[in-house]
Amino acid sequence: MRLLIKLLLILCVSAFSKCEPTVLIIGTGPAGIAAATKLLENSITNITILEAENRIGGRINSVKFGKKFVDVGAEYCHGQKNNIVYELVKDLDVLEPISEVFQPALYYSNGSRLDEAFTEELQAVILGYDSSNFNFNATGISIGELFIKKYNATIIQKYSGDTQKIKILNEALRLAEKVSLMIDGAFSWLDTSTVKHYERSEGHQLLVWKGRGYRTILQVLTKEFPNPEEKLPIDDKIHLNKQVSKIIWSDSEVIVYTLDNTTYAADHVIVTPSVGVLKAHKDTLFSPALPKAKLDAIEAIGIAGVMKIILNFENEWWTKDDVIFTFLWNDEDLHNAAKEFPYAPIKNGISWVSAITIMAKVPGNPGVLVTWVTGEFVPDIEKTPESVLKDGCVYILKKFLGQDYDIRAPNRILKSSWRSNPHFRGTYSYERVGFEKPGVRYQLDLAEPLTNANGKPVVLFAGEASNPIHYSTVHGAIESGFREAERIINLYQNS
Ligand SMILES: Cc1cc2nc3c(=O)[nH]c(=O)nc-3n(C[C@H](O)[C@H](O)[C@H](O)COP(=O)(O)OP(=O)(O)OC[C@H]3O[C@@H](n4cnc5c(N)ncnc54)[C@H](O)[C@@H]3O)c2cc1C
Repeated sequence: MRLLIKLLLILCVSAFSKCEPTVLIIGTGPAGIAAATKLLENSITNITILEAENRIGGRINSVKFGKKFVDVGAEYCHGQKNNIVYELVKDLDVLEPISEVFQPALYYSNGSRLDEAFTEELQAVILGYDSSNFNFNATGISIGELFIKKYNATIIQKYSGDTQKIKILNEALRLAEKVSLMIDGAFSWLDTSTVKHYERSEGHQLLVWKGRGYRTILQVLTKEFPNPEEKLPIDDKIHLNKQVSKIIWSDSEVIVYTLDNTTYAADHVIVTPSVGVLKAHKDTLFSPALPKAKLDAIEAIGIAGVMKIILNFENEWWTKDDVIFTFLWNDEDLHNAAKEFPYAPIKNGISWVSAITIMAKVPGNPGVLVTWVTGEFVPDIEKTPESVLKDGCVYILKKFLGQDYDIRAPNRILKSSWRSNPHFRGTYSYERVGFEKPGVRYQLDLAEPLTNANGKPVVLFAGEASNPIHYSTVHGAIESGFREAERIINLYQNS
C-alpha cells in the first residue's frame, strides 16, 4: 500500500500535474521565511522548514537590550527604490533614517578631536573610495591595492611637504581598510575585488527600525505584523534545532537527514544556509556531489566576519550631537596599546582593541552604543570573555574620548559570534579578487537549481549570496527566497 501511494506521488509530480508538491526549506533566515510565506500564500502548504538554531531569523537577530531591541545581526535597510524590504513596510511607519547629521566625530589616539574640515576631507577620501563605488573592472587587483595607489597619487601628493598631515594620512590608511571591511565583511581588503556587481538601491542608505529591530520584517513577511490575527499558518511547519547533515536527491524525490537522525522526504528542497556553511560542507552535504560550476561559485564568493559589541550605559555620557565616534590610531599608540591593555588576544605586538573602529549610538535605544570590529582579529575576539571585552571598550573610550567626556563603565554587554557559529561561519558575502572571469556571475551559478532528467528543479538554492545584485543584504535574501518559491509555484501553476 505504502509503495502504491509513493508510486502515485511520483507519477503525479513527474507529470507536473496540479497536485500539491511537498517542499522542504532549510533555514529560517529572511530567505527561508520569504520562500515559505510566498509558498503558503500561493496555496502550497505542504512545507517543512528545518532550522539548525534554537530560534528563527538567521542573521537577523533582534534582542531586547536596554529599553528597546538591538540588532546583533542585520540592522539597516539600505535604500528605498528597488528594495523589497522598503516596499513591504513603506506604509507601516516602522522605518526612519538614522539621523540627518551623519558627520562622525573623529578622534586621534592622543585624545584630540580632529578638526571638522580635516575630518570631512578624510571622510570624503575614505568614503569616496568606498568599496561599493568601485567598479573599474580592474580584474586581479584588490580594493586595498587600488585604494592605496589612488590615495598615494592624490591626497598624499596634495599634502607633500606637510609632514604632520602626511603622518596622519598614512595612519588613516588603517582606518580606511577597517571602513571598507565593514562594508564587505572580509578579513582583509587585499581579498576583495574591485569588480563589484552590487547595485545600490536609491534613497536613504541607513534606515532603522525605531527600536523594534530588524525582526519586524520577519513579522511582516509572516503577516504577524501589523495584525497578528492575519498571521500565516507557519509556526507548526518550523522545526528548530534540526541541523541538516545530508541531502540525497534523485529524479523522483529528495531525502534530507538531520543530525538527530530524522529523515524528511519531499519533491523539492530549498537550501538557504550561508555560503560559509556551504564552503564547510560542500563535499559532504550533497549526494550526488555538486557540479563544478557550483563548487567554483562557492569558492569565488567570500565570507569572513565583522563583529558587534553592544554596550548599555546607565546614563548617557555623550552629547546629543555625537552620533558616531571614529577612532584613528597613531603609530606609537598602536604599538603601546598591548602594554597599556595587556589582555589577549594580541598578535605581533598589536592588541585586539585596535580592531575597534567605530562606536555609534543605537538609534531609538537610549544609553546604548554599538561598536563594530573588523579584520583578522574577529574570530579571536568572538571567543574572548565578555569581562575582557567590556574592559577593552572602556580602555578605548577613555583613551580616545577621555579628555572630552566623563566615561562610565557599561552595566551590560552583548557580543556577536557569527564567524564562530557553525550555522553561519561569517556575516555577509563579498566578491573575491582573483576569481573575476568574463561572462561568469558566481551568484547566478550559486542560484542555479539542480534538476532531474525531466528538467524539474529538485534542489533549489536561495540566500543572500545567490542574489546577483543585492547579495550581502536582507533585501537580497528575501528576493532570493521569493525567486525560488516562484520557481516552484510556476512549475505547478503553469503545468
Ligand atoms: C553583523 C551583521 C550585520 C548585518 N547588517 C546588515 C544590514 O545592516 N543590512 C542588511 O541588509 N543586511 C545586513 N546583514 C546581512 C544580512 O543579515 C544577511 O544578508 C541575511 O540575513 C541573509 O539571510 P539568509 O536567509 O540568506 O541567510 P541566514 O540569515 O544566514 O539564514 C540561513 C539559516 O540557515 C540555518 N542553517 C545553516 N545551516 C543549517 C543546516 N545545516 N541545517 C539547518 N539550518 C541551517 C541558519 O541557522 C540560518 O538560520 C548583516 C549581517 C550580520 C551578521
